[in-house]
Amino acid sequence: MKRIQRSELIVLKSEKSGENHRLVTLFTSNSQIIRALAFGAAGSKSPMRGLTTPFCLCEGELYHDPVKDLWRVTHLSGKDLYDGIRSDLKKFYTISLLAEIILKSYGGGDEKAYALFEKTIRFIDRARENADVEKLLAFYLWRYLKMSGVISDPWECESCGRTVGRSESVFYTGDGQFSCSSCSKELSNELNHQALNYLYITSGMTYEEALTEETGEMVLAPVKKCLILIAQSLIGYPLKTLETGSMFI
Ligand SMILES: [Zn+2]
Repeated sequence: MKRIQRSELIVLKSEKSGENHRLVTLFTSNSQIIRALAFGAAGSKSPMRGLTTPFCLCEGELYHDPVKDLWRVTHLSGKDLYDGIRSDLKKFYTISLLAEIILKSYGGGDEKAYALFEKTIRFIDRARENADVEKLLAFYLWRYLKMSGVISDPWECESCGRTVGRSESVFYTGDGQFSCSSCSKELSNELNHQALNYLYITSGMTYEEALTEETGEMVLAPVKKCLILIAQSLIGYPLKTLETGSMFI
């Protein structure tokens, strides 16, 4: 392992450590999660004070002490502090949810996970409307769950293998799988045909294109509910941000 690592990174979590240090959890551009000590970062005069708070995008230098097996942050310079997220609770809690999923699924195991997260933060930071934040949450979850390999294509029934018709609903049956109405025992956790269609159309689009796709609450609400359920099952325990930020997510 190299002792010094330089990379772009995003702070996912920051905890106080001792008198005036901070223990930060970082997501690096090669999609690694690293916990590192930022020495003196909680001190009022430290240049790292502002940058070691959650969701700052930085260029950083990290040093690995092989004897203690500890990482230390030796340098940080801010690239984007995402002011739009800090002044809007809906944006803040949405990003917090994404960060919690990354932390609890250990980065998702795909090297492109960082790029997806960084892009999503950037889009949410600059979003003009609440509806766009909702859409971006759904786009991100869909792509992240696909990347992590825990979701099957909902337009194919897991039980009978049939591709469902354009006017049919599917039902989430657990473990990232979906069944058609004939195969599903319980008709709950429905993805109606409009929601399914929306997911199908936008999944091949860039964020710029997907954001212009017309949609409404009837479509977005079931998509979001379903993707959050799948994210929960990936992680295996309730997502804390859903409780603390329930008014905003
Ligand atoms: Zn079926």
